[in-house]
Amino acid sequence: MKIAVDMELCIGSGTCAMTAPAVFDQDQDEALVVILDPEPPPEQWEAVRSAVRHCPAAVITVLD
Ligand code: SF4
Repeated sequence: MKIAVDMELCIGSGTCAMTAPAVFDQDQDEALVVILDPEPPPEQWEAVRSAVRHCPAAVITVLD
C-alpha cells in the first residue's frame, strides 16, 4: 500500500490523524495533513482505508 494526498485540497480536518495516528499527523501551523508513513505495513491498512472513507475532502488516495 502506498498513500498519496492532494495537499492543495486538504482542509485540515484532522480526521485522518485521529483515525490512523501511526500513518497521519497534522502540520502544527495550518493543521494540514502530514504523512508519517507513506508505505504503511499491513496492520495499518484497515485504519488507512477508514481514513480514506472518512476524509471530508476525499483527498487521500491509496495507490495499491
Ligand atoms: S482527513 Fe482529509 S482533509 Fe482532513 S486533514 Fe486528513 S487529508 Fe486533510
